[in-house]
Amino acid sequence: MSEVRVRFAPSPTGYLHIGGARTALYNWLYARKHNGTFVLRIEDTDEERSTRESIDEILDGLAWMGLQWDEGPYFQSERLETHQQAVQQLLANGSAYRCFCTKEELEAKRAHAQEHKLDYKYDGTCRNLTQQQVQDRVAAGQAFVVRFKTPRQDGCIAFEDRVYGRVEKHYDDIEDFVILRSDGKPLYLLSSAIDDMTDRITHVIRGQDGLGNTPRQILILSALGHTPPVYAHISLTLDTKKAKISKRKHGEVVTVAYYKERGFLPWALCNFLLLLGWSNSEDREFFTREELIEAFDLEGIARHNSVFNYTAGDPNNFTDPKAVSMNARYISMLDMDELLPCVKAELQKSGLWQDAFESEKKQWLRDTVELMRTRLHTINDFSTRGRPYFADDFEFEEQAVEKNLKKDERVKTLLPRVADALAALAVFDHGTIEQALRDFCDQEAIKPGLIINAIRTACTGQSAGPGLFELVAAIGKERTVARLRAAAAML
Ligand code: GLU
Repeated sequence: MSEVRVRFAPSPTGYLHIGGARTALYNWLYARKHNGTFVLRIEDTDEERSTRESIDEILDGLAWMGLQWDEGPYFQSERLETHQQAVQQLLANGSAYRCFCTKEELEAKRAHAQEHKLDYKYDGTCRNLTQQQVQDRVAAGQAFVVRFKTPRQDGCIAFEDRVYGRVEKHYDDIEDFVILRSDGKPLYLLSSAIDDMTDRITHVIRGQDGLGNTPRQILILSALGHTPPVYAHISLTLDTKKAKISKRKHGEVVTVAYYKERGFLPWALCNFLLLLGWSNSEDREFFTREELIEAFDLEGIARHNSVFNYTAGDPNNFTDPKAVSMNARYISMLDMDELLPCVKAELQKSGLWQDAFESEKKQWLRDTVELMRTRLHTINDFSTRGRPYFADDFEFEEQAVEKNLKKDERVKTLLPRVADALAALAVFDHGTIEQALRDFCDQEAIKPGLIINAIRTACTGQSAGPGLFELVAAIGKERTVARLRAAAAML
């Protein structure tokens, strides 16, 4: 069997969105699984809409997701000559012809068809011009486009899509389509097919919106004597209201850059995107890269459109909840040596990093991250919810203050006393803290919950978090005692 070669072929006309990223992921996985080659091709022939910024965003996004390409990036705009040569070849072998019909003539025919409620299709006026007629018109300087000469025969062109199964299109329904404009520029449809041939692509895995192009691309490739690649079209990603996702409608939340900024782990995002439209017989949800490469196949791609469970404008729902829980799960189980650099970058970004975290406080950082991580959803949470571990200026949640510090009047006098009890400890760890607090509750004849909740809020401003004894140990004696006293003074 020949080597598997797949490609991701984005048009750099905007951001890298999650639908495109999913297409890239499926291609990357397929290449890795078959020890093949993943080609990156930038389809930048739309000069007006293509931007350098968008190219950079695509390259950054793919690199961040870990979807490293093996070849490229190739730029479609640099291959104009190859595309034009292919058109010449099609003209030479009789698979294409020059069409001199003017815009006005075509418009009139279209209007006539519309008037009579007929489907408009180019009628083939120039299809059978003699060589002499063509030569004369060219010599006379008449403008022309080049059209593909669709076989006029019964039946249909058919192919086996690896996702959708057999797809058929009647020859009758394919007009003689334009492949070269009058200004000598090839149409995208042609360029893309020729590039697939040039890049020796064996499997075209792309969005379902490419399905309509496929029969014509197969016609072009076959007319050049090339065996077309295998096609697998991926269903679209829609929002909860069944609308196609777009940045205009949904904003940043549909871009890969958003997840990067929000503190997603790249592989968590990949895993989430994977499951938007792919499943295997085991119904498994979590995979390491290696496991997924092993498990992935084109057969598992869903035919129905997938739903990105996000409603624009809902402030409590900053993205699909499944994406968040996937990320939380990865944060809690990632290898500590992989997680720590992510946390470091986040703390640096938010000005909470201390060099001591890599020297005398190294073990402390490790233990603290371990303690926090099972409750956090994003890497950014380490510097927001996690701020009280790394800084003394943190916010107090109003509800937590009301419930845990203000509601019971005894708290105001209990806090300085419990601060004294903790200050007296020679060893400050989970065990000694727990014992000291139990003794304190016995002496004061109070329920542990009262002081435990008060300490939590005094030390972190929050009402939820890790087990209190570990939390206090992580904050450390000095800071705990100071925070307890400060909270009492505030009441
Ligand atoms: N450049 C096309 C796009 O971004 C890709 C089509 C294809 O993969 O063939 O939609």
